[in-house]
Amino acid sequence: MNIPTTKSSIQLDLLHPRFVTRLEAFFSDSRIKNRVAVSSGCRSYAAQLRLYRLYRAGKGNLAANPDWQRPDGFFKGSFHQEQPCGHSFAVDLRQLSRSISKPDINKIAVTYGIVPTIQAKEWWHHQPRNGKGWFDAPALKGEASEGTIDVPLLEPVVDWAGIVAAILAQRQQVTRRPLIRGSRGDAVKTAQSRLGALGFDCGPADGIFGRKTAWAVKQLQKKKKLPTTGTVDVHTFDALFT
Ligand SMILES: [Zn+2]
Repeated sequence: MNIPTTKSSIQLDLLHPRFVTRLEAFFSDSRIKNRVAVSSGCRSYAAQLRLYRLYRAGKGNLAANPDWQRPDGFFKGSFHQEQPCGHSFAVDLRQLSRSISKPDINKIAVTYGIVPTIQAKEWWHHQPRNGKGWFDAPALKGEASEGTIDVPLLEPVVDWAGIVAAILAQRQQVTRRPLIRGSRGDAVKTAQSRLGALGFDCGPADGIFGRKTAWAVKQLQKKKKLPTTGTVDVHTFDALFT
């Protein structure tokens, strides 16, 4: 792999092969060579969880919850993180030389389909795609490499009927017996992942109803003007999906 990094410890092995092709082309561009390097690459799920826990404990930089399901339904947590398809889709770049400006680095990167998706906040963060699909790479058009290395994404096959049936079964279960602190199981997991998706952070969706989950439930109930019981009855369960 011909991608320069700022440290030897930076991991690149989980990057999607199509992304690797783009990065190799970008880094062999004479305007970029020796002036830019990758300062942050891919992370396994476990590594992301470690960073997230440090962040939650107030001991580390802001890190995404690895179990947070992005609204696009495919990606989870950080784009740097290993995704359900087994690959990751983000690198951070560092400017090594003042002979090229950061805006110029980004102008060139975009032509290779390496896009600063949060440019206003993090000029260095680059992705080859988002949840909808791959970004266009005009600099690679017509090059055989781009066409032949287009490995299809192993998108999970979604059994929507099965998911709906499972959620309806959980709803019935919650109607009979609301979820309370100490509850465990898949209904708790569903509630936690929905709370996370709605922006009420309750930590990883581990299926264990603890203090953080109760706090997040109360925040949801306040927002939805439901009694703030901190337990998930059927009204609160329904509020998770509206
Ligand atoms: Zn980044």
